[in-house]
Amino acid sequence: MRLGVLDGRAVVVRGDRAADVSRSSEGRLPDDPTALLERWRQVREWEAELPDEAYDLTLDPSALGAPVPRPRQVFAVALNYPPHAAEAGYTPPAEPLVFTKFPACITGPHTTVALPQGKVDWEVELVAVIGRETYRASEDRAWESVAGLTVGQDLSERVSQLRGKPAQFSLGKSFPGFGPTGPVLVTPDEFEDPDDLEITGLLNGTAVQHDRTKSMIFPVPELVARLSAVLPLFPGDLIFTGTPAGVGNRMDPPRYLTADDELVSRVEGIGEIRQHFTAAQP
Ligand code: ZN
Repeated sequence: MRLGVLDGRAVVVRGDRAADVSRSSEGRLPDDPTALLERWRQVREWEAELPDEAYDLTLDPSALGAPVPRPRQVFAVALNYPPHAAEAGYTPPAEPLVFTKFPACITGPHTTVALPQGKVDWEVELVAVIGRETYRASEDRAWESVAGLTVGQDLSERVSQLRGKPAQFSLGKSFPGFGPTGPVLVTPDEFEDPDDLEITGLLNGTAVQHDRTKSMIFPVPELVARLSAVLPLFPGDLIFTGTPAGVGNRMDPPRYLTADDELVSRVEGIGEIRQHFTAAQP
C-alpha cells in the first residue's frame, strides 16, 4: 500500500490514481494522516478490500505533501553507512549516533528551500515511519512497528551543525524546509526486501550519492529496537536512517548548495523528492 497526502488529506495511491481515505471509507477513517497512523491496522484491513472504482482521483505528483506533516518525534542517525563514516574521518560507530531534526523543518516532497547563511549540504536518506506505539521492541519483531518507508533529505548547514565543542547537530539540520519527505509512504510488504533498497542522490542530474540500504551499520529493525529500548516511539514518528557517502563537504574542493541547484533524492520502490533553492537570506 502507498499512502500519500493531497491537499492535507490522506489518499491511497495506486499508479497515477488515488482514493481519498475519508471519503472512500464514508467517514469511518479520518483524513488526517497522523490520526490515520494511530489506526493503522484498521487502515490496512480497509485498504485490502478497496475496489478499483474508489481510485477516482488523478494523482498530481507535484500536489503531494509530507506523508506525516507533523510527527511528534524525528530521529536521525549519523554515520550509518561505513563509506560515509570513513569520508567524514570516523571509524564506524559502535552505537547509533542519534540527533533530531526538529519537526518544524518537515515538508513535502517538492519544495523550494531558502538557503540560510553558511554551507548547506545534501544527505539523501531512507526514512522509516512508525505505525504503532512501540516501547522495548525486539529487533526480530521491529518491522511490525514500521508503517512504511519514505524518502527524505537531511539538509544540513555545516557551520551551525559543527559549531561548539562538542558539536551539536540538531539546529544546523532544522532550518525551515530542511526535512523534505515523500513522495508517499510505502508499506514494508511492497518490497521484495525492505532492508535492501537502492538509494541515490542526484545534484543537477549527476549521481553524487549511491548505495544500497543493506550497507547500513544499524538497519531499520535495529534502530527501532535500540531507540525504543530508551523511549516510546509513537505513530507517525520519523527515523532518518543516515546517508551514504558523497556529501558535498567531503568533496575536493567542498561543494555546497547554491540557488541554481536542483537536488533529487530517490529510493528504489518508493520514488523521488525534488528540491530547488533560493539565495541566502541576510
Ligand atoms: Zn543525515
